[in-house]
Amino acid sequence: MAYAIPAPAIVSVPVLGGDPFPVRRIYCVGRNYADHAREMGHDPDREPPFFFMKPADAIVPTGSTIPYPSKTKDYQHEIELVVALGKGGRDVPVAKALDLVFGYAVGLDMTRRDLQGEAKKLGRPWDMGKGFDQSAPCAPITPASKSGHIAKGAIWLKVNGEIRQKGNIDQLIWSVAETISYLSGYVGLAPGDLIYSGTPAGVGAVKQGDRLEGHVDGLTDLAVAIG
Ligand code: MN
Repeated sequence: MAYAIPAPAIVSVPVLGGDPFPVRRIYCVGRNYADHAREMGHDPDREPPFFFMKPADAIVPTGSTIPYPSKTKDYQHEIELVVALGKGGRDVPVAKALDLVFGYAVGLDMTRRDLQGEAKKLGRPWDMGKGFDQSAPCAPITPASKSGHIAKGAIWLKVNGEIRQKGNIDQLIWSVAETISYLSGYVGLAPGDLIYSGTPAGVGAVKQGDRLEGHVDGLTDLAVAIG
């Protein structure tokens, strides 16, 4: 196919022991751990999950150095379990939702918290606080055929070797299956979609020179530096 301008490259994430995973869309869940909802000043009651997005080309591979982004003085980390979909669907029942999952990875929902906070206050979209360039570091994906479905296990983030965030996947307010089911009621899900499932408490700012290491039990660790 000829295009009027050079076509953008397909963004992909490495897969353990297989071909790379092509990324179509990146969905993120807000406030999916009660302790993080509380630290952000919200009632962690089981209100329905809500979603926002990042562009596919916000993906950053592990081992990268990320330039400190523009227009922020409060650039923050959110360690998350990432769900990679190998199949799509609409209005998927919870009991069938895990059938869509190809695999899992460790990711970071990097956030310009000051821009997000201003948007919240003014009732504006979060996009410039959440969906900016290089805002979605993602470690290699482990196929669910190897890891099994991830329902429990430690999730943590270290900055310069010190624990900053720590939780357990079993603390998710909305499980992976429930999240997929809900999201599929709003949009048609498709192969190549990633879902960043939310972050436990302990979010905070990073600065130039920081080294971030992220972990979820059973998956490949994520490592990035801030340049
Ligand atoms: Mn997040």
